[in-house]
Amino acid sequence: MATTQSKSSESANITVLLEEKQVYKPSPAFAKSAHVKSFSALQSLRRQALKSPEKFWDKAARDLDWIKPWKKTLEWKPPFAKWFVGGKLNLSANCLDRHLDGPRRNKAALIWEGEPGEVRTLTYLQLHYEVCRFANALKHLGVRSGERVCIYMPMVPEAAIAMLACARIGAVHSVVFGGFSAESLRDRIHDAQAKIVVTADGGWRRGAVVKLKDAVDEALKDCKSVEHVVVLKRTGQEIGWTQGRDHWWNEAVAGQSAVCPPEPLDSEHPLFILYTSGSTGKPKGVLHTTGGYLVQAALTTKWVFDLREDDTFWCTADVGWVTGHTYVVYGPLANGATSLMYEGGPLHPTPDRFWSMIARHRVSVFYTAPTAIRTFMRLGPEYPKRHDLTSLRLLGTVGEPINPEAWRWYRTVIGGQRCPIVDTWWQTETGGILITPLPGATPTKPGSATLPFPGIDADVVDKQGKPVPPGSGGFLVIRKPWPGMLRTIHGDPERYKSQYFSQIPGIYFTGDGARKDKDGYFWVLGRIDDVLNVAGHRLSTMEIESALVSHPSVAESAVVARPDEMLGQAVVAFVTLQKSASPSPELKEELRGHVAKMIGPIAKPAEIRFTDSLPKTRSGKIMRRLLREVAAGQGVRGDVTTLEDFAVLAKLQQSEDE
Ligand code: ATP
Ligand code: MG
Repeated sequence: MATTQSKSSESANITVLLEEKQVYKPSPAFAKSAHVKSFSALQSLRRQALKSPEKFWDKAARDLDWIKPWKKTLEWKPPFAKWFVGGKLNLSANCLDRHLDGPRRNKAALIWEGEPGEVRTLTYLQLHYEVCRFANALKHLGVRSGERVCIYMPMVPEAAIAMLACARIGAVHSVVFGGFSAESLRDRIHDAQAKIVVTADGGWRRGAVVKLKDAVDEALKDCKSVEHVVVLKRTGQEIGWTQGRDHWWNEAVAGQSAVCPPEPLDSEHPLFILYTSGSTGKPKGVLHTTGGYLVQAALTTKWVFDLREDDTFWCTADVGWVTGHTYVVYGPLANGATSLMYEGGPLHPTPDRFWSMIARHRVSVFYTAPTAIRTFMRLGPEYPKRHDLTSLRLLGTVGEPINPEAWRWYRTVIGGQRCPIVDTWWQTETGGILITPLPGATPTKPGSATLPFPGIDADVVDKQGKPVPPGSGGFLVIRKPWPGMLRTIHGDPERYKSQYFSQIPGIYFTGDGARKDKDGYFWVLGRIDDVLNVAGHRLSTMEIESALVSHPSVAESAVVARPDEMLGQAVVAFVTLQKSASPSPELKEELRGHVAKMIGPIAKPAEIRFTDSLPKTRSGKIMRRLLREVAAGQGVRGDVTTLEDFAVLAKLQQSEDE
């Protein structure tokens, strides 16, 4: 596919080498019934919102139910923001109670599928009932407004019920991904000083039981803050039990009233703490508050996924990640939508599990990660082809830059050429999507997250904070506060300031590199920490990876630098091959040549290492910092608590050179 071409425009910061030319316009049929119907309508919204962002967000906030109106839309004392100051609301009431008076009361709020295959549907009325009873159970166990509740659960409806119950009474939840070890759990419970842990005996993953309660017991040996543990019975195996501390979920809610008036909470009342995925280092406890977060979650869900009353929306993220918070639970429920939740592994029991679920539940909007798409690509089109995917009308991606190759595969094989793709850029810290197409309005270019959402003042700048010219790489920053932004790092406001607001004083520093093209489209180049410096050129690893993935033998790749006397740094590429290809010295040469041809000799890897798999965080992101250490021939010394599969590291260290 000759849609990429060589270009080497040297710039102050990052040399941009890859350029994607193809543009996909929204189809008139899609645009006609979309919330935002044309590019000119979107651009006019963006222009107005840029002029007065507060007016824009003020209007958006009026779509929610407020118990008491706010006095001031924004109070900005850099770097600390308060939104909808003086307003009071309850998030769970916005997600549940306000849908109960009309036709949505018996609409499916959550459709859940367990890995073994059972299906459960909770209507808005039923979900409200469960949330109220669990909220009363939490109160009965002594949880007060502002206290922290750690949720360490499989992907089951009770995880969402526990979150909404916390929000109802003003408790602050800290959801810890169920794949984390006892040590990671302990650190997070300790950092948040949680009073209660909500867990299950276990969850199903790839046909096996993940023993959650065992991990909780291990973690709690060192956590003095925890007074009670609530345990959902899910998998049914034997578990340890501490009398007085441990309570079965069903017993805790038995006898609890289904009446639990939503607590009127200040707009800036803390809603949750969530630890970042840790691709770059020690996870940070990102704190989000109530009003602003919900405004951002609700509006982005409605516009980016163009939600309609009859959609079945499936975001495949675990509730342990911010994507699961905003786009499995809060965003869809605030909009009165139907959200699908799945417990288990994407390839279990067969690699077509996702496609079978889309067909059976008639999913219309599907949102997943590039890492998953690349896995499906590698497995081949025969799995999606087995199922009827015609219910789909819109696709989304999040988590990493998506290679144009994977984007086109997604569009063709999954979307049947008919579904628009929204490539959404955001972070745990941003609370919701910030850079994204709107599917009925924005012409898309594979690999670009396109344009900032209305009200978001994003830019690409150099070290001094000056905008770089179109085509040049630089730092991705957000100039003005937005409602869903993090308010601080829990317990560490100094780290909040130094991490996000010190590089360019007063402006939010995302930590990502990006460039804007001549149309103002944003191309996220990956993390600044991952940028290579080869013979004086700063290169984005993502572009070299994209070039490698465009070769027919390559499934996935991760590029890092190792120190080099001559060049400063040399490019090392770790490459996973397609099932049909086998490693050979000739293939290495061919791949080096391919990169040189696609983007120029400067980017040609000094070394290529074939590997069966790459080290990833549990949310599916490649951990390049570990690969850097492997490439440099040092032992791995960084924090590895978020690594998905430890065996990968051992194999990588032994790998090569044949
Ligand atoms: P840590 O901050 O602890 O290192 P993390 O940054 O991986 O972890 P997240 O907040 O889950 O944790 O991920 C946000 C990051 O993911 C962004 O900063 C960006 O690098 C990447 N990302 C997310 N969506 C996109 C996208 N659509 N295109 C490109 N990159 C994306
Ligand atoms: Mg980050």
